[in-house]
Amino acid sequence: GLTGNKGWTPHWRDPEPKSEYDIVIIGGGGHGLSTAYYLAKEHGYRNIAVLEKGYIGGGNVGRNTTIVRANYFLPGNSEFYSNSLKLWEGLEADLNYNVMHSQRGLINLFHSDGQRDAFVRRGNAMITQGDDAVLLDRKGVEKHLPYLDFDNTRFPIYGGLLHPRGGTARHDAVAWGYARGADQRGVDLLQNCEVTGIDIEGGVVKGVQTTRGAIRAKKVGIVVAGRSGQVAAMAGMRLPIESHVLQAFVTEGLKPCIDHVVSFGMGHFYISQSDKGGLVFGGDLDFYASYAARGNLPMKEHVMEAAMTLMPMIGKAKVLRSWGGIMDMTPDGSPIIDRTGVEGLYIDCGWCYGGFKAVPGSGFAFAHLLATDRPHDSATRFRLDRFRTGRGLMDEEGTGAQHN
Ligand code: FAD
Repeated sequence: GLTGNKGWTPHWRDPEPKSEYDIVIIGGGGHGLSTAYYLAKEHGYRNIAVLEKGYIGGGNVGRNTTIVRANYFLPGNSEFYSNSLKLWEGLEADLNYNVMHSQRGLINLFHSDGQRDAFVRRGNAMITQGDDAVLLDRKGVEKHLPYLDFDNTRFPIYGGLLHPRGGTARHDAVAWGYARGADQRGVDLLQNCEVTGIDIEGGVVKGVQTTRGAIRAKKVGIVVAGRSGQVAAMAGMRLPIESHVLQAFVTEGLKPCIDHVVSFGMGHFYISQSDKGGLVFGGDLDFYASYAARGNLPMKEHVMEAAMTLMPMIGKAKVLRSWGGIMDMTPDGSPIIDRTGVEGLYIDCGWCYGGFKAVPGSGFAFAHLLATDRPHDSATRFRLDRFRTGRGLMDEEGTGAQHN
């Protein structure tokens, strides 16, 4: 940039909206972009648009703490996240884009016999699913993470569950990589294009109203994360979703000191170090429904206290920034990828605080549903009606907060 280089070409085109598309995706976050990419790549669709009210990467896809893992326990989630991690492992080659996917290993700490038992079960479920898990005792943790406070008697470290294939990825590069890949396959990425209404006639979707005019579509997919409730309301739907704020923090750049992703089992705190050197960390939701993408001080204090309890050395680092994102929380903590009661209208939402790792898997499965009208094998249980019938609920919310 400082050389005034004028030779750079934009990563994607800036097209004018067409009057009609085969498929319109509402939301240019990670899930919307990956859906469009796989619709084009796997199913041969060309006449598709992604409608983004702001700019590509401005939502949660560029706000998360970048943790990628496949350590879910319950059937439904387990096979889905396993599939998503496999897609992550081939993503850079697939997109021909460096998303800085770093499988540095993730360690979930446990601090009691009961927690160890729960992690043993989780580790067994992960291995049964075909993923990897290693149970570490206290000495094993000390070998990997010598900087933790092992003298802490209030929350003694008993051990940890190591997920070697877990790690991080550069979040906005993931958005850019999918955006470029979709654009190269003919997908129109329409930024500054807010959907303000969904046109439905006789129970069939006909298109959308936007700030850049009306657009007709044979099928419409809603993939707007924290705004899911608002956009679904445009189609007369009331979703089982509350939107809450989740905060994250980054310190000034430091020399490499934390080479894993680590999560505390006795408070809400997890941490990794970015390739720029910043310590990236976070905690739990602010716990009040809000559409404000910023958080409040009590949760900041809670996260800092948990950090100091686990690794007192962090007290020397200066926090550079904090921010928030709007999370689409379902009652059971698991997502929705399904048709709706309106023909041609589909929804992908409810990723709570764990949807970054789901970006490839969700896009793949949602594209499959949009193209074939059948759920993909990896996502058969993410049904919307489970909240009405009570059948098939997957209560796995805890996986998000402590093990983001
Ligand atoms: P977004 O990027 O938010 O995309 C949705 C898009 O829809 C937005 O760009 C928005 O502008 C657009 N939109 C909304 N309304 C309209 C409209 N009317 N018309 C057009 N466009 C519209 N997950 C992990 O797996 N690991 C983590 O470590 C992790 N950490 C997190 C930390 C924080 C602080 C936050 C906030 C989230 C974290 N997550 C994490 C969760 C993850 O980021 C989200 O679940 C995921 O990014 C949501 O999907 P998305 O990328 O499609 O969302």
